[in-house]
Amino acid sequence: AEDHKRRVLKDVFGFDDFRPGQATVIEALLSGRHVLAVMPTGAGKSLCYQVPALVKGGLTIVVSPLVALMQDQVAALRLAGVAADTINSSLDRDANVAAWRRAASGQTRLLYMAPERLMTERMLDALSRLDVGLIAIDEAHCISQWGPAFRREYEDLSQLRAVFPQVPIIALTATADEATRADIEARLFAGRAETLVLGFDRPNIKLAIEPKQDSKRQLLRFIERHQGKSGIIYCLSRRKTEEMAAFLEKNGVRALAYHAGMSKEAREANQNAFMSLSGVVMVATIAFGMGIDKPDVAYVFHTDLPGSLEAYYQEIGRAGRDGRAAEAHMLYGAGDIRTRRMFIDEEDTSPEHKRRAHRRLDTLIGYCETAQCRRQVLLGYFGEEAQACGNCDNCLNQAPRADGSAEARIILAS
Ligand code: ADP
Ligand code: MG
Ligand code: ZN
Repeated sequence: AEDHKRRVLKDVFGFDDFRPGQATVIEALLSGRHVLAVMPTGAGKSLCYQVPALVKGGLTIVVSPLVALMQDQVAALRLAGVAADTINSSLDRDANVAAWRRAASGQTRLLYMAPERLMTERMLDALSRLDVGLIAIDEAHCISQWGPAFRREYEDLSQLRAVFPQVPIIALTATADEATRADIEARLFAGRAETLVLGFDRPNIKLAIEPKQDSKRQLLRFIERHQGKSGIIYCLSRRKTEEMAAFLEKNGVRALAYHAGMSKEAREANQNAFMSLSGVVMVATIAFGMGIDKPDVAYVFHTDLPGSLEAYYQEIGRAGRDGRAAEAHMLYGAGDIRTRRMFIDEEDTSPEHKRRAHRRLDTLIGYCETAQCRRQVLLGYFGEEAQACGNCDNCLNQAPRADGSAEARIILAS
């Protein structure tokens, strides 16, 4: 399933990496569990059901409160070549009938409906005869009486579980407060859902970027500050992981290499040593990390520019899982930008895909070059607002000074 969902992500949606949380949600759904996903706006909730819809096959029913939202999504999916439809009150009868026929004949992958359309006895009866593989309820906070967006039609959705007992249901919302969450879980799932609440911040990871000069020396200096700790060093090439590991060993650091060009046995041996011992440094390509959950990784060091901000976030997220102070340190140089641009240009993909890849790279460069709080920029990219963090190089390098901004605002506003 791992490969299949990644292939769908890339081939259908044109993205190389999942955003935080997406892969976890998708896996849970694919293994048949109900999910409540609380993720910030802009986090990419739609893909959490669109990808499994395509991986699973069958019909996915998507409940959404607004006709405009449904139509946007359907249009975007169709552009990507996905058979999507909507049945809603703004369409004339013929259009709705045609959409229904396509769904009934098994052509449709995703069918978007307003709750009042879905929750009629006739519709439920007809749908229960089809091969429904997944049900997604977007803007699920509308079901909560406590919330400001309560909609009576959403209340009826609590029957879905009984009508489709075999079908995993995912509820998605950006409203994270405790009461709303409990309400959604009680009404939709009778409390039996896997709940994933995602804020993207990992405040214990210090973020820093250093101009790249002499990678080896810079790396060694960094490691000397973390003697005896486990860490992951990411390098762009296989050859470089081996060179770096050898260099570190020569300088008294217990270092192992990991890349896809090594034999399976050698890779496993190194991974096991890293996982079971403390104080081992793993020098790896991005082949290392999937499913690695070692709590005491004290740092992730990028000797080269990662592929995207999503990839960077995923990679640094392997540090500090135990909640202790950890560091994400990157070396950044103009040569890496040229290399990455060249990779994109040489990829065997469409011009549109290349254009998007260059844009994603621009975003990453923006993160590297910002003078603003890095965490603000990183979280902002994932749709989350944050205060200046005090735990990134930019925050820490700012000489403390009196904050005149509040005063300035008052003066300027009057
Ligand atoms: P939400 O519903 O959580 O507010 P959306 O599903 O509308 O967010 O997605 C927000 C934006 O993020 C969209 O432009 C979408 O294409 C983009 N996006 C989602 N997942 C990814 C990903 N894995 N990589 C890059 N962009 C993504
Ligand atoms: Mg959304
Ligand atoms: Zn900061």
